[in-house]
Amino acid sequence: MSISALGIIGGGQLGGLLAEAAKNLNIKTIVYSDDADAPAQNLADEFIYGNYKDEEKLNNFAKSVDVITYEFENIPFETLKKINSIKKVLPDPNINKILQNRLSEKNFIVKKLNISTVSYASINSKNDLIFNSELLPGILKTQTLGYDGKGQFKINNIKDIKKISIDFQKKYILEKFLHLKKELSVIITRFGPQKYEIYEPIENLHEDQILKKSKIPAEISIEVKNNSINYAKTISENLKYIGTLCVEFFLDKKDNLYVNEIAPRVHNSGHLTINSHNISQFENHIRAVCALDKIETKKLHNAIMINLIGEDINFYRNKKFKENEFFFDYLKKNIKKKRKMGHLTIIEK
Ligand code: ADP
Ligand code: MG
Repeated sequence: MSISALGIIGGGQLGGLLAEAAKNLNIKTIVYSDDADAPAQNLADEFIYGNYKDEEKLNNFAKSVDVITYEFENIPFETLKKINSIKKVLPDPNINKILQNRLSEKNFIVKKLNISTVSYASINSKNDLIFNSELLPGILKTQTLGYDGKGQFKINNIKDIKKISIDFQKKYILEKFLHLKKELSVIITRFGPQKYEIYEPIENLHEDQILKKSKIPAEISIEVKNNSINYAKTISENLKYIGTLCVEFFLDKKDNLYVNEIAPRVHNSGHLTINSHNISQFENHIRAVCALDKIETKKLHNAIMINLIGEDINFYRNKKFKENEFFFDYLKKNIKKKRKMGHLTIIEK
C-alpha cells in the first residue's frame, strides 16, 4: 500500500521539519499536539490540538492517516499502544517505552547489549543517594520526562545531599559525572534487517546542558568513529527499529566511548544534514516509516550548526545571510530563556 497521509505526534520544531520533508515527498501530514501554539502547525497540512488522553480525538487522528510516527519520546506508552491498535505506529511503541525511561534505557544498553554507559544507580530516596555516594560527584536525573537538561541536579558530595530538597514522588537515576573530552552523536535510519543509512559521527558542544553547536566532521580517531557507528548499528538492529534514531555518546579524556542516551526520533544534532547531505535525517525518517525507497545517503559538504536559544533569535531575524548560511526560524510564539528558537547551518563550500 502506498502511503499518502502521515500522522505526527508532537508539534515542536522536529515535527515541523518532518512535515516539511514529507511535503517534498508528496505526503500529507497531520500533526497532533497538546500545545495549542505548537510550531509544527505552520508546516503541517493539518493540525489537531488535543490531550494525549483524549481517546476520541486520537481515534479520529489515527483514522485519518495511513501510518503514524512521533517527534518526541515523552508520549504516554498507553497512548501510543492505543493508537497502534488502530494504525501502525513507527518506531514501535515498545521501543519508546524502553527508551523514554533513563533506567530501562541504561539497563538495555549495559545488560542486553554489553555497551558501556557511565556508572549509574536507581534512586528513590535520600538513603539511596547516601548508599550510592561512590557515584559522586554525579548528576541526579529524573527517570522520565527530562530534556535539554531539565530535571537534572548536580550533586558534588555527601554534604550536597543533605542540602538539596528533592521531590521523591518522582523516580531518579544517579549518574557518575564524567570529565568529558567531547560529545558525539550518530544518526542512523534503519529501513529493515541490515538495511540502513548512517551519517558520520557529529561532534556536539553543550552549554548549560543544552546543545549549542554541532559539526561534521567530528575530530575523533578512526577507532572512535568506527566504534560509535558500530554501536548505532547494534542498537538499531537489536531494537528492530524502523526510522531515524540518534545515539548520543560521551568520550572521556582517555578516548573511552560511552553511550549517553538513545533518542528514538530525529535529533537536534542532525539538523545540519538538511544542508550537508543529499538526504536529510528527516527525509530518511519519512522514507523509512512510509516504506519508500532507501536512497544512498551522501555528504555534500562539511557543516556546522548553531542553535539559536532564547533571545539569540532576535539578532538573526534581522541579519542578512551569506550563500552558504541557512537560517531556520521555528516561529515559536514566545521567546523564553533556554528555549530553542531556531538554528543556523553554515556549510563549507
Ligand atoms: P537530556 O535528555 O536533557 O539531553 P542528557 O542526559 O543528555 O539529558 O544530559 C544533557 C547534557 O548534560 C549532556 O549532553 C552532557 O553535556 C551533560 N551531562 C549529562 N550527564 C552527564 C554525566 N554523567 N557526566 C558529564 N556530563 C553529563
Ligand atoms: Mg541528551
